[in-house]
Amino acid sequence: MDLGIKERTALVCASSKGLGRGCAEALAAEGVDLVLNARGSEALEATAASIRDAYGVAVTTVAADITSEAGQAAVLAAAGDVDILVTNAGGPPPGMWTDWDRDDFIAAFDANLLTPIALIKALLPGMMERGWGRVVNITSQSVKSPIPQLGLSNSARAGLTGYVAGTSRQVAPYGVIINNMLPGIHATDRANSLDQGVAESTGIDVDQARENRQQTIPARRYGTAEEFGATCAFLCSQHAGFIVGQNILLDGGAVNATL
Ligand code: NAP
Repeated sequence: MDLGIKERTALVCASSKGLGRGCAEALAAEGVDLVLNARGSEALEATAASIRDAYGVAVTTVAADITSEAGQAAVLAAAGDVDILVTNAGGPPPGMWTDWDRDDFIAAFDANLLTPIALIKALLPGMMERGWGRVVNITSQSVKSPIPQLGLSNSARAGLTGYVAGTSRQVAPYGVIINNMLPGIHATDRANSLDQGVAESTGIDVDQARENRQQTIPARRYGTAEEFGATCAFLCSQHAGFIVGQNILLDGGAVNATL
């Protein structure tokens, strides 16, 4: 299927590795020029070079912390009039409800609520003026099925979900489409380090820790960045114009719910 976005431009945040990179690769495969971002420049430049070689698209890089005001300004300056925005950043740390004070919530809200809102707010006017735009926010399965030890993440991501629900309907008349993607467990560095943590705390090896977790998923495996990216590219495509303000769960069936 031709997704109809060849020669469009996309800003993909937090995209040197993992799910962000999966989205960047899938967009590049459709002929979309990219602005990529991450804090560490080494992996970022390596990813950019690999994508240029594989797909022949233009790739601009901005090494910056997307959760900082300076980072957002640098990324937006490089992005210019992009057609597509994919928001992403690292997730907040786990803990108990007793661990978190106001400053912890402010940090989580800055990273996973106020950063995507700032980027959306900066880029929507241009998209609306041009009559076409796509925004995809990478959130989490925890939006549908909250994970108790991820209270900071649950709170920030629920806030973004509410914001998108209203805003997506305000901008849809202008051809601008906003949706959220909700990853369940995917085989990225983040998933590997969680398995490593379980292995160390329980005395089993890391392969066993992974196998135990895979058995909790009806698909009996972790998702891949490639299949996550393919869904992202579809949501950014010409064909996704009637999908407005939705929360698309990619979890191998882990959340046992119909809606
Ligand atoms: P990952 O494999 O650890 O990759 C994270 C990417 O984001 C890296 O390129 C990293 O590069 C970049 N990054 C992190 N913080 C950043 C920041 N402040 N500014 C700019 N770039 C930043 O993580 P992932 O698994 O793809 O997860 C992506 C998001 O999905 C996270 O919010 C995570 O909580 C959520 N999620 C993931 C899963 C899963 O199973 N993988 C499940 C549910 C939700 P640098 O470190 O160099 O900045």
